[in-house]
Amino acid sequence: MTELLYLKDAFATSTTAAVTSAAGGVIVLDQTILYATGGGQPHDTGKIVWDGGSATVTDVRKKGTNVEHICEGDLPPVGTEVTVTVDWDRRHQLMRTHTALHILCGVIWNEWGVQVTGGNMEPLKARMDFEFNPLPEGFRDRITDLVNAEIAADRPIAVDFLPRGEALLDADLIRTKVNLIPEFVTEIRTVDIVGLDKQADGGTHLASTGDVGRFEVAKIENKGKGNKRVRMVLHDRGTPE
Ligand SMILES: [Zn+2]
Repeated sequence: MTELLYLKDAFATSTTAAVTSAAGGVIVLDQTILYATGGGQPHDTGKIVWDGGSATVTDVRKKGTNVEHICEGDLPPVGTEVTVTVDWDRRHQLMRTHTALHILCGVIWNEWGVQVTGGNMEPLKARMDFEFNPLPEGFRDRITDLVNAEIAADRPIAVDFLPRGEALLDADLIRTKVNLIPEFVTEIRTVDIVGLDKQADGGTHLASTGDVGRFEVAKIENKGKGNKRVRMVLHDRGTPE
């Protein structure tokens, strides 16, 4: 079993770990800071280094309770102590993007009571689908203003762990379908953009909304009745419009 250190600390940039298996370009460790693809967030990249060797991590996947680091380079013997480092530029961009998507979900819910139906993210760009039918007048400008106002408000973002029974009673978590989390999960991780949006979530997020940068709607697409797709991009803070 690999312990997922990023669940408690999304800002750790390196850690030591022990090799539990290594074969065929795949390294498994007892713990890692590298995010494995899941929950809509793509994997991290990084490096694994030890006395006498190193490997570049090009993909990270969950396999049961283990995390598989797909690597190019050397393979360490089982039991070796290694240092894992995350490619921080990519990770931080994904944290900005993931947090921006939660802000978008929050403002759309608050303003129109409309749910998200799907999405996808890449560093500094993403798309998200909402069940609008039809789209409200002036929608593009309105969400641009609302999201950027939440970024300017620099709301704190809190990560918490709740017993399942408690999470199932939380109105915000009910809205975001906490009941769909498999029953064997007894502790629910929550990401709370305080005062705006609270979800059961396993992703990595910023510590406050102010670090997202400037939000821009790149495109809005009609994906059929009751399904509108918002494509967004993020710019660095202070970049002029
Ligand atoms: Zn999320």
